[in-house]
Amino acid sequence: MPKLVPVADELSKPFWDAVNERKLVVQQCRACNALQYPPRPRCQDCGGESLGWKETSGRGHILEFVVLQDSHIPYRAPDQPFNLAVVTLDEEPRINFFANMLGIAPFEVPVGAAVEVIFEEVAPGQLIHEWKVAE
Ligand SMILES: [Zn+2]
Repeated sequence: MPKLVPVADELSKPFWDAVNERKLVVQQCRACNALQYPPRPRCQDCGGESLGWKETSGRGHILEFVVLQDSHIPYRAPDQPFNLAVVTLDEEPRINFFANMLGIAPFEVPVGAAVEVIFEEVAPGQLIHEWKVAE
């Protein structure tokens, strides 16, 4: 399944650098310790501007999913139908990631199941994060 190759900007570069080292990191506020993703210039809870990065366990749970059958995104159209699940991060359920749940047939996503992050190479030297049901 073809995927977009991420293009990092100043804010997201630490995230993608970590992904390339097979680590899943999220921003952490140095003032109130809140975790957030996607990266933002300020803490969403206290407005603090001093944000660091924290490595997560890479574990989460499937919150919900949809199946795309009639997307007009050209590069994804040949793969239809395919799953698009929402994963919540165990350390901070407010943080969500999208997942295609590779290897799981369309409509068969086990909602509520524990998942763990995996990494896929989408271009030479460029990984992306994806999720699979935890063993
Ligand atoms: Zn904060």
